[in-house]
Amino acid sequence: MKKLSIKVKMTILYTTIIALILGIVMICGLFYMNQLELSKSEEQLQENVDQFVGDLSFKKGSYEINSDVDFYDEGIMYAIYDKNGVLLHGVLPQEFPTLTKLSTNNVRTVSNNEKHWMVYDTVYNYGNNQTVWIRGIDSIHDIEDFMASLRIFMLVAFLVLVIFVGIISYRMLQRALKPVDSICKSVDQIRDGNNLTNRLSIPEKKDEMYKLAMTFNDMFQRLEESFENEKQFTSDVSHELRTPIAVLISQCEYMLENEQLSEDDKMGLSIILRQANRMSKLISQLLMIARSENGTLRLSYEEIELHMLIEMVSEELEEKATKRGIEITIDGAKEIYISGDQSLLMRVFLNLIDNGITYGTDNGWIHIHLEKQEHNAVISIEDNGIGISKTNLEKIWNRLYQVEQSRNHGMGLGLSMVQWIVKAHHGTIHVESELGKGSKFIVHLPFTL
Ligand code: ADP
Repeated sequence: MKKLSIKVKMTILYTTIIALILGIVMICGLFYMNQLELSKSEEQLQENVDQFVGDLSFKKGSYEINSDVDFYDEGIMYAIYDKNGVLLHGVLPQEFPTLTKLSTNNVRTVSNNEKHWMVYDTVYNYGNNQTVWIRGIDSIHDIEDFMASLRIFMLVAFLVLVIFVGIISYRMLQRALKPVDSICKSVDQIRDGNNLTNRLSIPEKKDEMYKLAMTFNDMFQRLEESFENEKQFTSDVSHELRTPIAVLISQCEYMLENEQLSEDDKMGLSIILRQANRMSKLISQLLMIARSENGTLRLSYEEIELHMLIEMVSEELEEKATKRGIEITIDGAKEIYISGDQSLLMRVFLNLIDNGITYGTDNGWIHIHLEKQEHNAVISIEDNGIGISKTNLEKIWNRLYQVEQSRNHGMGLGLSMVQWIVKAHHGTIHVESELGKGSKFIVHLPFTL
């Protein structure tokens, strides 16, 4: 029951209530009809017996039965008994209990095991203390048959009505709740499209649905404003931080060129330079993400040869790889031209290869393979590093997600940015990895957009 939708629950409730009311009304109706039919027959029986008595002619000391007196008329059988209950004239229905006592002036029902009759006795006195009993017997089979058919008819009508009420209430609820469905669909669309500028359409009637849609739109408005403020803030702050960090890096590099510095000073400066470089990378990732989100990041397309681009990127990372004894190899198809934004695509491969080094093993390897497919260039970057567990495979694309604190090197922004750039080029990226064995990131980029 818990899993049923509101529509189904309400339909069951309505239908049960209507079925109960209908059931009670029908049972009362059947009971009333039965009573009505019985009392009509009782009256009829009394009337007919009285008329039958009228047809007999009583004289002093005896009574006479005219030849035209019928002991079976209109379904009623008549019998004449003496005062001791001995049958003098008349007919009795088959199986009628012959020992049924005579009893004055009340209609009653007499039954053997299966059949039922309505019986009316009347006593008549004539002459000197002479008495006869006249009994009328009416079969109530007809009433019973009629009531049985009525019961079947009522049962069928009951079932048809209940099904009808069920369907009608479901349809009505479906209609009444349709705006809720459409509100849910619109909210889903807004969520899936990550587009908070969309709004729900407002119903014309100023009812509860109108209020609901207005409240949602109000909430979207506030969310949009606060997201906009946050994006603007991130964009402004990262932009403002770029210059001081650039100055810090260039000053460190300049000072490190000074031969007169002591080894300790040089070491201190190198640490500052390393951290400043790291900060610069993070700031540029933040800025790129902020710009991509508020739509101010424009891609400038040009023809790019992928093999060369990847070679350039790996050369840039050569020093970092050598420090850990990691060997980078590139093989596969050359001269793969695609249309794309060079600096953004460089960021993609820079991040992927950099991650391969960062999460690689000392003296390990990174293998880059390029391949041409019918419409796509396929680039795979494989390492024999620490790998990623199955549970984390989907999450690594989320912004700020890092597999575990102990192995963190960045802020968990790199892959989210990589995915955004690949998507902006109408490409796809996925990962195959096994914990402790290594990872393989596979990028598909279409030749033309
Ligand atoms: P970060 O800047 O922290 O490296 P990323 O978005 O680039 O963030 O990566 C997210 C997480 O994915 C990282 O914290 C890391 O644990 C995991 N990861 C990324 N690349 C690899 C790889 N080649 N091998 C193992 N783990 C990886």
